[in-house]
Amino acid sequence: MASPRGLPISFIVLTLFTFLPNHATSLRTSFIKLPGSDGSRSSAADTYCESWRLAAETNNAGTWDVIPSVCVDSVAGYLNGDQYTSDYGVIADYALAFAKTVQVSGDGKDVWIFDIDETLLTNLDYYKAHGYGSEPFESNSFNEWVVEGTAPAFEASLRLYNALKKLGFTIVLLTGRDEHQRSVTETNLRDAGYSGWERLLLRGPEDQGKSATNYKSEQRSKLIEKGFKIRGNTGDQWSDLLGFAVADRSFKVPNPMYYIP
Ligand SMILES: [Mg+2]
Repeated sequence: MASPRGLPISFIVLTLFTFLPNHATSLRTSFIKLPGSDGSRSSAADTYCESWRLAAETNNAGTWDVIPSVCVDSVAGYLNGDQYTSDYGVIADYALAFAKTVQVSGDGKDVWIFDIDETLLTNLDYYKAHGYGSEPFESNSFNEWVVEGTAPAFEASLRLYNALKKLGFTIVLLTGRDEHQRSVTETNLRDAGYSGWERLLLRGPEDQGKSATNYKSEQRSKLIEKGFKIRGNTGDQWSDLLGFAVADRSFKVPNPMYYIP
């Protein structure tokens, strides 16, 4: 028996059975999997929260008070996973690569500024107990945590800090912590592995009520008036980096837990 075109029917049937399974397999593997379709990826909420985090980190979100309640699990997953640590490592690498391009004069005037909280020291243990930034900031309980003096270093920040010292940069620490927290802050920094900073600048009585952007800009301005050249600046808040008297290069480390204007 022959087909209309003269090919034996048995040949056509054999060809179909040979072709169909492979074709079906190739169709299956070429499907684009939708988020959540195989249970390995997250929901629309997680997708939104990744976008929210990017908007917060890039300052597109502007001022915000607490993280969206729908994003608590997503932010917690980020902070407790490898990504948070990796992000600090990559930023430290870029900062160090820039630092190596700076002609350090050797007169002690080439400054690198570091913020402290969420830049050199991590307060993640505190924020774990306070909803990862989903609760409004409560200064009394945070200050009690600061007084404990047990905040660990970010490994990548400590690596960058030590490498900058070796390159001959003068290290200045500029923090929103109050002057009365100087002693516990110094002890905590040393216990975490930091040493050899030139200055630790904290908020004095005259700085109370100033926005972080203004307070930190004024402090940088005073350094410049004294002849320092601010080559680099690392902070977790845009208010660590923006304003006036800004550094030649600023490096923003992540912080999806709180925003300080
Ligand atoms: Mg900070």
